[in-house]
Amino acid sequence: SKAKLFDQNTEVKTSFKDVAGLEGAKEEVQEIVDFLKFPEKYTTLGGKIPKGALLVGPPGTGKTLLAKAVAGEAKVPFFSLSGSDFVEMFVGVGASRVRDLFKQAKEKSPSIIFIDEIDAIGRARGKNAMSGSNDERENTLNQLLTEMDGFGTNTNVIVIAATNRADILDKALMRAGRFDRQIFVDLPDVRERKEIFEVHLRPLKKAKNLDLDFLSKQTPGFSGADIANVCNEAALIAARNGKKAVDKQDFLDAVDRIIGGLEKKNKIIT
Ligand code: ATP
Repeated sequence: SKAKLFDQNTEVKTSFKDVAGLEGAKEEVQEIVDFLKFPEKYTTLGGKIPKGALLVGPPGTGKTLLAKAVAGEAKVPFFSLSGSDFVEMFVGVGASRVRDLFKQAKEKSPSIIFIDEIDAIGRARGKNAMSGSNDERENTLNQLLTEMDGFGTNTNVIVIAATNRADILDKALMRAGRFDRQIFVDLPDVRERKEIFEVHLRPLKKAKNLDLDFLSKQTPGFSGADIANVCNEAALIAARNGKKAVDKQDFLDAVDRIIGGLEKKNKIIT
């Protein structure tokens, strides 16, 4: 079967309304939206529009969602690929894939390129130099650096990358003119969890006894992805029990279930 080179979405529907909490991060990426929409506003005074931004934070906190919302808000195409896809790739494909990605994005500019799990390609070079697949990874990383240096300041393609391991990234990625902006996307606090619940409750038929303050307090350490899971799971539990609306007990059962899942995951890690 033919491997897909990358994903391309020319009509992104995601907006900042879909991203709950993350006020600071949203403010920072709002600037990227502005660069994409009104580049002249910035370049007339001789300023250079940044080429890249790095979203840093734990899994499931909304990094992909936020990057997509930037494309949706700016109404520009969204090109994406995941660094982890490269791990399973055939030798020699990585660099050409990166080249094709940038070529397409430039043709459709203004546009966003999103690279999820950039650490899979962007780990510091020169370690485990014995393995062949590592050469492949380095070629891919080098191609990425070349592409970012290659496009002019008025290309109007902005590369957003995401990682939960900024500490292991090759420093060359963070140099000026590359991913020189880091934006932190943290786990939500209790107030933010409530906002995330509100977003994911929108499509559900809700019972009157739902208490969002209570649920937000019952879910410390949950990511946005975990909360989205809880909401979906609660709806399925309610349906399974033949209910007309999703109620408090369904949510508590769903929270228990997700906590069970998280504990299992942690057991595997430790
Ligand atoms: P990973 O590091 O695992 O790739 P991520 O940080 O990119 O994770 P997303 O893929 O954006 O996380 O989040 C997964 C899903 O969780 C989203 O599609 C959304 O449904 C929900 N979600 C996460 N964070 C938020 C948030 N801040 N507001 C609303 N929904 C969120």
